[in-house]
Parts: sequence; C-alpha cells; structure tokens
Amino acid sequence: MNPKTNISLPRPTITPVSQPFWDSIKQGKLTLQQCDKCLDWVFYPREHCPHCFHDQLTWQEASGYGQLTTWSVIYRAGHPAWQELTPYIVGIVKLAEGPSLLTHLLIEEKDVFHLMEVEMDIQEIGPHPLPFFKKKKEEN
Ligand SMILES: [Zn+2]
Repeated sequence: MNPKTNISLPRPTITPVSQPFWDSIKQGKLTLQQCDKCLDWVFYPREHCPHCFHDQLTWQEASGYGQLTTWSVIYRAGHPAWQELTPYIVGIVKLAEGPSLLTHLLIEEKDVFHLMEVEMDIQEIGPHPLPFFKKKKEEN
C-alpha cells in the first residue's frame, strides 16, 4: 500500500511456471531456466524451450548482470500507485546469459546510455520484492 495515495501497487502475476523465479527473487537471487537439450537460456519462464521446444528446463542461478539496450522515461505512470515515483526509467536489459528482461532502472535520466553495464538490485516495493537494475559497480 502506498501511504500517500492509499493505493496498492499491482502485484506480479505468479503462475506455477513462474513461481521458482519469484521464490529466488525473495532469496536475493536471479534465476533463469536453461534448456536441458540445447542449453539455451530461457526468459520469461515457460513450460517449453522457445528455441528447440524441449520440455525439460532447469532453473539455474544467473549472474544478475546485463547491458541496457533501450529505455523510456516514464512521466505518467501506467498505474496510479506508481505516479509519485515519476519520473522513472524502465528499460530492456539484455542479460549476460542472453535473454532480455523488461525492468525498472535505478538510474537517473542524465546518467543513462546505450549498452551501459547494469546489475540487478532487488527492491522491496509493495508486497513482492522486484528485480530492478542499477549501474554496474566499477571493478577494482
Ligand atoms: Zn532448447
């Protein structure tokens, strides 16, 4: 519940297929499915591999790193509970493992650029922790 607006944030739609993804996010980890046959990574969660249609997919921990391929600054939120957070940025992150993910970015508009290196940063917003992304820390 947003204390200012008294409006609940929309929850992610959790299905039996995506339940392991959300369970791992609660534990602070990003997991993706990997096809047992072609070994390609799969996201969003599915019952069959979209590359070879094999039905045996195994959940594996992912790096949590990726590159920002595109983004949009949101001034008018799609749901009223998000409005007080505007402006914020949503973008597509191409994960190091290959699949792309639509996510909320913890980056200011002036700092964002194409192919910037990002890392997952789980945020406790609303009833479910959500996998947001921020600028990747520089390595020493
Ligand atoms: Zn496959």
